[in-house]
Formats: sequence, C-alpha cells, structure tokens
Amino acid sequence: MIVMKFGGSSLEDRAAMERVVSIVASRVRQRPVVVVSAMGDTTDTLVSLLAAVERGDAPSATRIAAALGDAYRSALFSLGADGPMATARLEREIAGLERYVGGMLSLGEISPRSRDATLAFGEMATAPIVAEALRTRGVGAVAVDPREVIATDARHGAATPDEPAVRERIARVLGPLLAEGSVPVIGGFVGAARDGTTTTLGRGGSDLTASVLAAGLGAEALEFWKDVDGILTADPRIVPGARPIPRLTFREASELAFLGAGVLHPSSIQPAIDAGVPVRVLNSFCPEAPGTDIVRTPRRPAAGDAIAASIAHKRDQVLVNVHSTRMLGATGFLRRVFEVFDRLGVSVDHIATSEVNVTVTICAQPGAERLAGELSEVAAITTRRNVGVVSVVGERLANAKGAASRVLAALDGVEPRLLTYGGFGANLSVVVDDCDVEAVVRRLHDRIFGARARRKEARCG
Ligand code: ASP
Ligand code: MG
Repeated sequence: MIVMKFGGSSLEDRAAMERVVSIVASRVRQRPVVVVSAMGDTTDTLVSLLAAVERGDAPSATRIAAALGDAYRSALFSLGADGPMATARLEREIAGLERYVGGMLSLGEISPRSRDATLAFGEMATAPIVAEALRTRGVGAVAVDPREVIATDARHGAATPDEPAVRERIARVLGPLLAEGSVPVIGGFVGAARDGTTTTLGRGGSDLTASVLAAGLGAEALEFWKDVDGILTADPRIVPGARPIPRLTFREASELAFLGAGVLHPSSIQPAIDAGVPVRVLNSFCPEAPGTDIVRTPRRPAAGDAIAASIAHKRDQVLVNVHSTRMLGATGFLRRVFEVFDRLGVSVDHIATSEVNVTVTICAQPGAERLAGELSEVAAITTRRNVGVVSVVGERLANAKGAASRVLAALDGVEPRLLTYGGFGANLSVVVDDCDVEAVVRRLHDRIFGARARRKEARCG
C-alpha cells in the first residue's frame, strides 16, 4: 500500500487534474491512498475572503465566496465528473461556505472555529472532485471525509493529529475501503477535534496529513507529488543547471527546509520517517523524472560523490552584533544576551561568538528593534541589514576531506560577514551582502557540482 499526496499546483486546472488521474490510475495495483490539497491557490483565496470579512467588507467577501463556488463547479463540469452524487456533495460544501461567510458577516466576528470551517472548504471540495474524476475513468475511488480519520487536538489553525486515535480511525474507516479494493481519496490539511468541530493543521498541512496516514497505515512508500522534479541542488532561478538530488537524508532535508530551500517541511514528514516509511518527492508534470528519495540513514559515500547535497539561500536577513561593554571576563554574558532574545521572542538562526562578542542572524521581525534598549546595560548593538545566508548542506561535509576549505575558496573575493560551521553538522553557512547572494550560490554550485550540472538532461514541459 502506498500514500500519494498531490499538492495544490498539481491540481490547479483540468489538465493538471487529468495528469493526476492518470498517475493514480497507473498505480492502482500498489493500492494507493490518495491525499489531496485544495486546488491551486484556493487556500490563499480563502485567507483573503476571511480578511474581507474581518474588515467588514461584505460585498468582497460574498463575491470571493461566489467566485470560488463557480470555479469548483466548473472544475467538476470540465472533468466530466458532474454526476448527481459528486454534484450534490460539492453543492453541500459550497452552501456550507456561503453559510459560514453569512454567519461571520452578520456576527461581525471570526471565531477560530469559523476560520477553520472556512479554510477547510478547499480540501473538502477538492477530494470529491478528484474521486469522481477517477471513478469516471474506471478507478474505484471513494471520497473520504478527513474529519472521520484525522483526529486532532482543539488548537484551531494549528491542530496536531492524535496519532493513536488516527490509527484506530484508519482501521475503522479506511480499512473496509481498502479491503474491498477501493482507492480512498481524502482532503489533506483538515481534521476534527474530539467534539467533532473542524480543525486545520496549519498552512501546508496536507503534507502532515499524508505523513500521518502513511505512518498509521505502515505504507510501503509515501509519495509527495509536486510541480518540481524533486529537491534540487540549488534554486533553478539562480542556477539554471541545478539538478534534482536523487537521495537525501532526513537530516539534510530538514536543514534545507530551515535554510530556505524547503520543498517539504521537516515536521510534516517526521511521522513517516519515524515509522520508517520511505519518502519520495515526485513531479506530477513529469512523472517519469526520478525525483528525490528522503531516507533515514546516509549511504556509504562513493568515489565521485559531491561533497554536499544542495545549496540553499535566504535573503533579507539582519546581522546583529552584540558587543559586551561591561562583562569583560565575567561569566553569564551569553545567558544575559539570549535571555533578552528569548523575552522579545526574536528567533536566532546563525551564531558566531567569542568571549565578549556575539554575532547572530535573524530575519527581520517584530521585537528586533527593542534589542538595543533591553541590552544597553551590558552590551552595545550594531546591526547590518540586507544580508543573505548561503548554506552548503550535506552530511558528507563533515567527513569529506577539504570540504570546508573548498567552500571558502569558492567565495573568491566576496567578503563573508559571518561564517558558521561546526565540523559536525550538515551545513556550512556564509553570510554575505544580499547583492552577493546570487554570485555566491552560482560559484558554490559550480565548484561543488561542477560542469556535470551544466549538461542538463531534457526536462518535461
Ligand atoms: N491548502 C492548504 C495550504 O495551502 C494546505 C496544503 O496545501 O497543504 O496551506
Ligand atoms: Mg495549498
């Protein structure tokens, strides 16, 4: 049994849906459970609908809801999936959305529950469409209400699945469907609290749904179908020759996500990784492309392997230097400094320290402007805006001979503002001015992945 999860862009229009349908149809023998995001950017549209409600802008809110309803009706129609059952099911979701919008507008407030009930529309409406499209093409698909399977806590907007309860529901709800050879199609992102109210798992939460299901089902594989050929060696907008990484460890994938190149959020694949389910990222627009496997343990390096797996970058970061004015030789300086960061809720990404000097990177965030005032008793603060962090990520970095010096050599005249490398971890990060980020990413990519990367195989599309 496998779990196949399709993201919003893989479902954005009729042509994309048709591709998804044929991918699933070609895998029926592997007994798939299909998890779908909301079509296209539905969730963003729902967020803007809620913003209109919040401002009391009834005409906009009503217009957005009506347009969404029409878009879903026409998706159903264009796929030839507008049989009476699917139509009734979709109309129920559309009527529900309109009711929530009317209710919120007349009360003049949005409770966390109504927010979730509204945001759930996309996934709730997409799953029956995909299921019906599959059925009309000969696949015995059944749309499953995610609220019957994904039991969560009651933290609306960021609910956490209760994995033991989900396992029990899988057996009860999905078990009989799988036993009769049906293909369950379930909307991601949505769950239900104990009292039955609709919850959502946070933006991008469909990946978590898929991962929790794969873990609970003990699936043979978990496939994330996206609109890219897997996880790449760099951002292709900067390095046109970037190529998919065939195999990445979970640790590398997690580092990449935090360092700005996240195709998958680590916390959303953790349940599957913990359960030992092999995870693969694939491209629904190019199903033949091999994609990226995410595995638990690194394989033994072979001759000719690159010293790293990928290069990530983040722009618009701020470098903050904290220089002790009072605590020369005194203990507790770092504690004092980080207590203030903690109190102001400023989260720190990279750190370099010496006895009386701490330099960190943060992303521009509220609270940061209060650092200088709060630390004024013990330290002086200097900040530098418009810096970027370029990170070389890979578990081999710590063991491959000369890896770190090759990375530094590739900077080739660009002034590093800060460097972090522990010699243990899976990344070496360099802070440079924003305007140098692209050049550094390109040089590093050339040095690490070499000319091979330039000879790029033909891509789909
Ligand atoms: N549709 C939701 C979102 O866009 C969940 C998801 O796609 O994973 O955040
Ligand atoms: Mg989405």
